[in-house]
Amino acid sequence: MDFNDTIVALATPSGAGAISIIRVSGPQAILIVSPVFKPKGKKVLAEQPSHTLHLGNLVGGHRNLDEVLVSIFRAPKSYTGEETIEISCHGSPYIQQEILQLLIRKGCRAAEAGEFTLRAFLNGKMDLSQAEAVADLINSENAASHQMAMQQMRGGFSNEIQKLREELLNFASLIELELDFAEEDVEFANREQFQNLISKIQTVLKRLIDSFATGNVLKNGIPVAIVGEPNVGKSTLLNALLNEDRAIVSEIAGTTRDTIEDEISIGGVGFRFIDTAGIRETKDVVESIGIKKTFEKISQAQIVIFLLEAPSALRSSLPRRQAGPPKGEKLSEISIEIEKIRNRFPQKPILIIINKIDRLSEKELQNLKTDLNVSLSGVEGSHFLLLSAKTGAGVEELKNKLLEYVNVGALRNSDTIVTNSRHYAALLKALEEINKVEDGLNANLSGDLLAIDIRQALLHFGEITGEITNDDLLGNIFANFCIGK
Ligand code: GDP
Repeated sequence: MDFNDTIVALATPSGAGAISIIRVSGPQAILIVSPVFKPKGKKVLAEQPSHTLHLGNLVGGHRNLDEVLVSIFRAPKSYTGEETIEISCHGSPYIQQEILQLLIRKGCRAAEAGEFTLRAFLNGKMDLSQAEAVADLINSENAASHQMAMQQMRGGFSNEIQKLREELLNFASLIELELDFAEEDVEFANREQFQNLISKIQTVLKRLIDSFATGNVLKNGIPVAIVGEPNVGKSTLLNALLNEDRAIVSEIAGTTRDTIEDEISIGGVGFRFIDTAGIRETKDVVESIGIKKTFEKISQAQIVIFLLEAPSALRSSLPRRQAGPPKGEKLSEISIEIEKIRNRFPQKPILIIINKIDRLSEKELQNLKTDLNVSLSGVEGSHFLLLSAKTGAGVEELKNKLLEYVNVGALRNSDTIVTNSRHYAALLKALEEINKVEDGLNANLSGDLLAIDIRQALLHFGEITGEITNDDLLGNIFANFCIGK
């Protein structure tokens, strides 16, 4: 990539729309656009001040391509820090292509993915973690991931790292200075102050590292496995939560053999619902593969929903009970299944949901509640909820319950949350080095040895903010951006 080139790309999605925006950035941006832009009135685009808007026609050869609105941003006061032009044209794919080709003929190069933001980073408009937050912001699909990306983009996280890095750097130079005066045996770096700084850094690093679990889950959606026999209403429940008919609802038992995932935003938090095939005993090969998959999915989930239907799964509480199995038998079978999940995954919250309560009379509902209280009281960490996916009764309660399980508190206060696995890895490595420095201090290690570990820690801090980078790393990060950003 040559950063002296002037680059051009469509910044809005390709395809038809009311308006499309084409961005041009680089030393020649204004000079390339000016001759093909005929503003209303007698002005010349190249002579216009920064941060102004101009209406006019884009002309290719003798042809009027479109009536457009051009914004002009002069270096360094632009997103990229370079001379920048943004052309708002009519959103036809034909017009978009004609304008792009015209500008390329006039000397622009088509931008690579993320190149505008890469240039912003290289020109010091933002640090690396802020640049990464731009990609997260574009990809954010719910309030939680949006808020985290916004916070990171404002630099909350990198400011903190930057401050620590400077303090550490200060000590590193003092210790290195001591090396120059080795014969005089002086201590420029006060060891007690240094010890305090190390503890402070450890506390901050640990907090940031711990926040990754929350951050990662909030960014990608909280995984919730729905376990239940075929036909108990898993798809209907997902639809009720989703408020639209996305999953397939069918009357044939066993149709949800493959797992389906649906991301639903509840109270601003993304939940990823993983529809599973259930774990009932079976001889059917396809189904037993499904059961293995179900356990796999449960292991990945943070919350388990165990879905049952009233009344057939709970015959015990119905008036026809004389003809059916003895009271409580079905429920005790169910609690055995739930125990199975509990034993394999002792820490996971299990929410037992009885669906289809619209089929029950008031009296049956009361009996059922009593039976459930008795049968399920022994299963630790489980709660039950009665609802009807069909009528929507109890669905709001389910949403509230799900939010209760998630510690969104961490997000609500302004604490920094780490969401990026690259940052997470660098923080872990930095902590490792800082712990070594601490050990060295405790062992009264000489300054030259301390200095080596401090430099290593500084290196990992620098990796996050981008003070220390290499081309591969930058290439990897920006390749995940869209073209035009
Ligand atoms: P899945 O196999 O677990 O995904 O079950 P489905 O969602 O496909 O539902 C199976 C059948 O139960 C469908 O005919 C649904 O209309 C019906 N059903 C689902 N939820 C309810 C409910 O709350 N009340 C009633 N009466 N029927 C329901």
